[in-house]
Amino acid sequence: MRIAIVGAGFSGTSLTIELLRRGPVGVEVLLLERSGLFGPGLAYSSGDPNHLLNVRASNMSALADDPGHFVRWLQAHAANQGLGATVPASGHAFAPRGLYGRYLSETLAAVEAQAAPGRTVRRLPLDIRSLEIHAEGVRLHPAGAVPLDVDAAVLAVGNFPPELPVTEGCAACDASLIIRNPWDEAALARIAPDAPVIILGSGLTMVDLVIRLDARGHRGPIRVVSRRGLIPQQHRETAPWPSFIDPEAPPQTVAALMRRVRSEVERAEASGAGWRDVIDALRPATQAIWQGFDAVERRRFLRHVRPWWDIHRHRMSPEIAARIAHHLASGRLVVEAARGVRLDARDAGLALGVRPRGSSRLEWREATYLINCSGPQSDYRRVQDPLVASLLREGVARPDPLGQGLDVTPHNAIVAADGTAHSCLFGIGPVSKGQFWEIVAVPDIRRQTAALADTLADRIA
Ligand SMILES: Cc1cc2nc3c(=O)[nH]c(=O)nc-3n(C[C@H](O)[C@H](O)[C@H](O)COP(=O)(O)OP(=O)(O)OC[C@H]3O[C@@H](n4cnc5c(N)ncnc54)[C@H](O)[C@@H]3O)c2cc1C
Repeated sequence: MRIAIVGAGFSGTSLTIELLRRGPVGVEVLLLERSGLFGPGLAYSSGDPNHLLNVRASNMSALADDPGHFVRWLQAHAANQGLGATVPASGHAFAPRGLYGRYLSETLAAVEAQAAPGRTVRRLPLDIRSLEIHAEGVRLHPAGAVPLDVDAAVLAVGNFPPELPVTEGCAACDASLIIRNPWDEAALARIAPDAPVIILGSGLTMVDLVIRLDARGHRGPIRVVSRRGLIPQQHRETAPWPSFIDPEAPPQTVAALMRRVRSEVERAEASGAGWRDVIDALRPATQAIWQGFDAVERRRFLRHVRPWWDIHRHRMSPEIAARIAHHLASGRLVVEAARGVRLDARDAGLALGVRPRGSSRLEWREATYLINCSGPQSDYRRVQDPLVASLLREGVARPDPLGQGLDVTPHNAIVAADGTAHSCLFGIGPVSKGQFWEIVAVPDIRRQTAALADTLADRIA
């Protein structure tokens, strides 16, 4: 059996590892990655040692059934990485993301070396542009190479760059001053050290950008504009809090969920624990809660709860939080609750027209550069990617109705435009967010890939 995995970031690498460890004998994995780097993906390829993981090491093992694996690897590598004191036995440490990328590549190589005969992986540096389903399986079309025929394929194509939320007046501005993709290093290199910068969006990508600008020697003022002006909370050591939502009978409405969480936080705080313990205790039930909501409740969650969910669930490491707090206190970094509505060209660069929260007045904020940190584009109808565009055009896949990736079944099968679930095409990681919601971070993805490896093994058996 030949299985192609498109994308070798965490999701694709983790599925490969699980197939090599628990897959059927006689499986050949073709791991296809357009960057030619197998393991790190977008999230863990940063070469900036200041870019830290935003999940503690104890939750970052690549192996679902060995939660201490990454902490042990980190401890073994701590001495030569200068991390000695920062890896306590509790695993409450936040390693550089680039180092985690190395851990993934090394873990894949180690698992491959120990795989039982008949379980193999081939790493192919290919960019898949389209695919078709036929009676015997899937035919993939890479750019500049011959098509590949496989029995099954898995889409692990990850996060896509954000779309600029402000379009009006954009054409009048110098395009080189608008950095649409926050992960575009060449564009960031153009920013002069004293240039004033506006960042659109105040989540973890904004945090990354501030840290990246620091590392590049930028000292100019930074204004962050986002609708609510909320920035991520910081991690603290947490203690296990008992699970308080039964995944078999989750709350059916957003209001019921919020009541339950609030009362649990009050109970935790009264007993000396904290809200972080309660939020972390939700994790095993989060997917069941999302799946229990109907479309109206899911929409309600996205509209009203999501901004609060994001900043409490996806937190910054203490080290990074201290640096952000320092910039806020010094006034170099200003966070404003406002909606960016239009752009205008100015002699010194550009101006962003904003409506401050609660006001309809238009005010102008000037800067030399605007950086878009409005979050990965999850509405696949708007993603500018040849493979995604072709899947939707040919009806091989359809978007999730709430614009959160592709429509997939609870068993990860991709659903075609006519509503039938494919038996040989699957989607994992952020691709499957519409079905699972909480499926963008390592602890959730590794459970998903272990389960899919079992499904594929059963099917072959
Ligand atoms: C900047 C950043 C930091 C993060 N930090 C953390 C963290 O600290 N902890 C945590 O748990 N989660 C973190 N996350 C969440 C992250 O989504 C997951 O942890 C995980 O890395 C997602 O992996 P992925 O493989 O699905 O996506 P990606 O990392 O985006 O990888 C997808 C890969 O697919 C390749 N690809 C796409 N299309 C094609 C194609 N057509 N042909 C060939 N190759 C293709 C891309 O080149 C890419 O390498 C972070 C996310 C981001 C964006």
